[in-house]
Formats: sequence, structure tokens, C-alpha cells
Amino acid sequence: MNRVRMYINGNFVESGGKAWLPVYDPSTEEVIAEVPDSIAADVDLAVKAARAAFDQGAWPQTTPQDRGRLLFKLADVIRRQSAQLAELESRNTGKPIVEAEFDVTDTATCFEYYGGIATKIMGYVNPVPDNALSLSLREPVGVAGQIIPWNYPLLMAAWKLAPALAAGCTCVLKPAEQTPLTILELAGSFQEIGFPPGVINIVTGFGDTAGAPIVAHPDVDKVAFTGSAAVGKLILRSAADSIKRVALELGGKSPNIFFADSDFEAAVDGALFGVFINQGEVCSAGSRILVERSIYSKFVDAMVEKTRTIKLGPPLSRDTKMGPLVSKEQYERVRSYQEIGKGEARLVAGGGRLQSADRGYYVEPTIFADVNNNHRIAREEVFGPVAAVIPFEGETEAIRIANDTPYGLAAAVWSRDIFRALRVVKAVRAGIVWVNHMQPTYVEAPWGGYKQSGFGRELGPWGIEEYLETKQVHINLSEQPIGWY
Ligand code: ADP
Ligand code: MG
Repeated sequence: MNRVRMYINGNFVESGGKAWLPVYDPSTEEVIAEVPDSIAADVDLAVKAARAAFDQGAWPQTTPQDRGRLLFKLADVIRRQSAQLAELESRNTGKPIVEAEFDVTDTATCFEYYGGIATKIMGYVNPVPDNALSLSLREPVGVAGQIIPWNYPLLMAAWKLAPALAAGCTCVLKPAEQTPLTILELAGSFQEIGFPPGVINIVTGFGDTAGAPIVAHPDVDKVAFTGSAAVGKLILRSAADSIKRVALELGGKSPNIFFADSDFEAAVDGALFGVFINQGEVCSAGSRILVERSIYSKFVDAMVEKTRTIKLGPPLSRDTKMGPLVSKEQYERVRSYQEIGKGEARLVAGGGRLQSADRGYYVEPTIFADVNNNHRIAREEVFGPVAAVIPFEGETEAIRIANDTPYGLAAAVWSRDIFRALRVVKAVRAGIVWVNHMQPTYVEAPWGGYKQSGFGRELGPWGIEEYLETKQVHINLSEQPIGWY
């Protein structure tokens, strides 16, 4: 068996508990590797290493220029190994190879961006009224605990590691149990690039046994989490005990709103891309498709027609547009929502397992029409290729339905009327809003949610704020006695 060890304090190690967990290829359902099934004692070793690298200065005392250069080197390694990393990512997640290649490029870009930011973290001179110099210094938060999901494994690791390292934090990162392979592959280069031991630690394992101890650990200063809302709530509760700083990027049920005056072809394409990209395993998936009544039936018909042409197949095949879901658990979850949807609304496309696949976690891209926003398929995050199409009448109703959700991660609006589009942009309560597009995002722009989609912003200059403390320094310039007593 291909046993891949985890990375703690500069070494590839097994779990102290000696157990291993299987990692699958979801297109064949076969085990392709095993990684350590970590326990709290492993987490403790990783946190101790990160703590020592932070407290004994190995990392925060490197210069910002040196930290930046290391991040650039890491980006170079990723670009050099991109073909191999993309293939591994595609094999382990089931995502089409072409999408995995985009992810790997974005991963390198993210490290480059924060490599540049490392030398641009600046404090302030505070304009105080006394004869004093008052400064605000920006300092790293300390040890960052980072827990990430399985939908974009390498990219999500970069979104968390890059700003933390640029800020001068040390990291204990736990990949999702389903998809630990690409970040461990990359970890093979950390030492050679020049990261001191303990600066980056990758701990593999399950959420309750390896994730929860990171959140509960008293020596972890901050937790950043991307994943389900249910686990986000657990993390927030647990972090209360040690008053940890927390950033949460949770799920969504994002509205993709189509007005009758939008470019019809582009709109239909945007509706499908918005919800089916990456098999729909996207936190910002446009899974509620709101369509103005006057174009509604034509729009649904066109979606159905075009969905028939989406090519499902093996992830590594270059013409595949949709691969299998990541795991058996996710497959069963999505299948159950397909059944729930059948009892609530009108099934117009898909609705089951991909019949032609004799193995692998393939489900058909599925569309429900005439969905009511109160239906479960309109309220609960499916995290798979299941679209809920909801008709509306006019702008006011579109906005009301769009905002009638506990989530607030993303939204999109399609219209050629710039006034209307911008009114909707302002009215929608979501952290990311697209106009005449959905899904593309850039390392330069903020990412994060409103409402129960979490708090905190990743990427851009906002991303680094999450890993910085602010220290006030007051320097008395008066040589007179203070004269109070
Ligand atoms: P999913 O439902 O798709 O598995 P999760 O939110 O459970 O999504 O998983 C996202 C990440 O959170 C994974 O790395 C997982 O191991 C981790 N995780 C799950 N449960 C916990 C927990 N109780 N504490 C900390 N991390 C957890
Ligand atoms: Mg889980």
C-alpha cells in the first residue's frame, strides 16, 4: 500500500496511534493511498513544533523579504510540478483534469501574491494630541490552526497558508480526510525551499479526532476554517473556551438571478456553469436559479437541452466536463437530495446515478424546476450538481427570494440594464456578487460570506488582516516628570 506520511516539524511521520486511513480515487472507488489517522497526541506535537518555530523566533524573525522570497520559491516549485500536482488532485477529488490545472495555477499565483504582500505590511503613526509618538505595529497572530475542505484541496491550503506565512505566523494545517495527497506531495519541497522546521505542519486525519484537537488546543492562537455550517458551529463553540480568533467560510445557497433582458445564450450557460462547475462541489455554487417569469419556460427548456451535452467521464480525460463526486458519503448525500427534490418539485433533468458508469461516484447533473424557495432543495446546501430553478415576477420579488436564506456567501445577477443590475447588487446580502457572470474569483479580491456563511475575509489585503495583531505603542517625548503624584 502507498503509505504517505504527514509532515510535522520538518519530518514525514506516522501517527503515534499507528493507525492509517484510506484515500480513494472516486472514479474507481479504489484505495490509492493511506495517510496517518491522527489523534490528539499528533496534533499536540505539531502545535508544539509550530509554537517553538514561532516563540523561538525562527519564523517571525526572518525578514519580510526572506519570507516573501520563500513564498515565491514555493510558487516556482508548484509551477514546475504543476502537471503532476494537477493529475494527483484530479485523481483524488474526481474533478476534471482541466479544472485541476486551473486550480494548481491559482495556487501558485496565491503564493506569489502573498510573497509580494509580505513586504507591504505596514503600521501607522497615530495622530495623538500629546507630546508623544504613538504607533500601531502589525504583528503576527502566532500559531494558526487551519482546517480545510476537499473540494479545492491544494488551492484551499494556499488560501490559508500563504497569508499566514507572509504575516509571520506558523501553521498547523489539516487537509480534509478525503483529499490529503496534493498538499503532502508539496510538503516534500518545504525543507529544500528553506522553510525552517515547524513553520508549516500538515496533520492528516478525521475532523473529530484530528480537527477538533487543533481547535481546542490552548497553544493555537487562531483558527481558520472552510467547510460545512454544521462543523463551523462546533468550531465556534469550541474556540470560545480559549478565546481564539476564528474565521469561518461556510456553505451557501447562492442565488443566480436572471432577468428577461439578459443575453439569453450567455445566461443559460452562466446558470449551468454557476451550479455545475466542479460537480457542484463549490461553496459559492449558484444552486438557486431565479428566472423572470416571462422567459422562465424557455429558459428551463434551454438549460435542460444544454445539460444533455455536458460530458461526464473519467477525471483524467481531457474532454471530461464533470467527474464523479469526491466520496461515497458525498455521493449518498447528493443522491438523497435528488430524491428529496423529486418529492418537492418538477424534475426536468438528471435525478439519479449516471447509468452508464458501472463504478465511481457519478451522479447526473440534475435540475428541478418550479421550486418554491421554502423547499428543502432551495434551503439546504447540497454541494453537488443539483439546481433548483425558481420563477419570479419583477425585481422586488427577485431580491426578496434571493435574500430569503440563512446563507449569504455569493449571488449573481444577469441583466443588460445597468441600473437594475446595480440596484440588485446593493440589495443582495452576500459577500460576493457577480454581474453577468458567476464563479470566477481572483486572489486580489476579498472572499467570504455574510450571515450564516461565516465571517472573516480571505484573499487580497483582507486575507492578511486575519493573521495580524495590532499593537499600540506610546512613546513619551516629554522629558518633564509626569507630575501626577
Ligand atoms: P463535509 O460535510 O463535506 O465532510 P466538513 O465541514 O465535515 O465537510 O469538513 C470540512 C473540514 O472540517 C474537513 O477537514 C474535516 O475533517 C473537518 N472537520 C469535520 N468535523 C470537524 C470537527 N468537529 N472539528 C474540526 N474539524 C472538523
Ligand atoms: Mg465531514
